[in-house]
Amino acid sequence: MATVQDPLVYPFENTPGFGSTMEVAPGVYWLQMPLPMSLNHINLYLLEGEKGWTVVDTGIRGPETRDLWNDIFDQCLFGKPVIQILCTHMHPDHTGQAGFISERWQAPLLMSYGEYYQARVMGSMMRDGGNWQMSEYFVRAGVAPDFLEKMREARSDFAPAPEDQPLPASYIRLCDGDTLQVGQHTWQIITGNGHSPEHVCLYSKKLRLLISGDQILPVITSNVSVQPTEPFANPMLGWLESHEKFKRLLPNDILVLPAHNAPFYGVQERLQQLIDHHEDRMLLIEENCVEPLRAIDMLGFLFKRELENHSLFMGLGECIAHIHCLMGRNRIERRLEKNVYTYRSIDPTLSERAHPSHHEEPDDLPQMV
Ligand SMILES: [Zn+2]
Repeated sequence: MATVQDPLVYPFENTPGFGSTMEVAPGVYWLQMPLPMSLNHINLYLLEGEKGWTVVDTGIRGPETRDLWNDIFDQCLFGKPVIQILCTHMHPDHTGQAGFISERWQAPLLMSYGEYYQARVMGSMMRDGGNWQMSEYFVRAGVAPDFLEKMREARSDFAPAPEDQPLPASYIRLCDGDTLQVGQHTWQIITGNGHSPEHVCLYSKKLRLLISGDQILPVITSNVSVQPTEPFANPMLGWLESHEKFKRLLPNDILVLPAHNAPFYGVQERLQQLIDHHEDRMLLIEENCVEPLRAIDMLGFLFKRELENHSLFMGLGECIAHIHCLMGRNRIERRLEKNVYTYRSIDPTLSERAHPSHHEEPDDLPQMV
């Protein structure tokens, strides 16, 4: 069997491991914190300035990451304080320790408007439990009511707990096109959406570096989901448009520092791979919907493993994100019958094709980040 050469290049043989840092460019340090799932780490970054440090992303809530941060503060800051904290986006593995670090150093939080306010309400959304809107969303996707009961009881490890330091009570707004000066280096703010509403990436033309958060990951594909809070959203459209925007703005010889997996070269190839991946998933759905299907019926050809609990929640969200993008392109239509949505392809030639297209392997499970 011919092997396909991976077009991405990973320049570092080692990782910093938990509790220490590794300099990856002048004044730019990589560190990792643990995550309680098969994707067992998040990458965070420290930017050195004359007066102190900028922390980029903070890790998940809880004492394990907080203790590791204390080790970093004691051993890796060369006597300088943390002077600001930047969260690329609102997800709990990125914002979980922002309150703690901000209190510890009396340092401000920098975020985009969309991400800060989404993060502020996320805690209450996680505590909401069930409501009729959430039930309707899942029932219309084909989920049995007893699953909804189970979901109400399940508590995510990511959800904020009462003992946590809340997100800082104020923030400094970052906007697309802004610049952020840290020491000698100027970072351009580039935002994307689809994974989250106004995700911030940091680009230094001089250092030839992009801190990409979850906007561009080299191995896994970030979760792009429709959520019960906005059941008719089309996040996949924003995700694909963001990829085109990054393709236009970024040269290919930059080093990408992502929030998961390892730093890599080959950003243009990776952006195209991600676009191709989602286009392939959409074509797969379209070809399978020659006869009407519910969203839940499509999980078997999108994912290898049977999905349960949170993975079913994430898988359905991803599936519906692809469906809504197809609907926006007028390639699939939706009908509501007996309070369940079914989807059917519009292109009449699809059923006449003798051989469906060759598709990528299904993913094992939906990504939780
Ligand atoms: Zn994320």
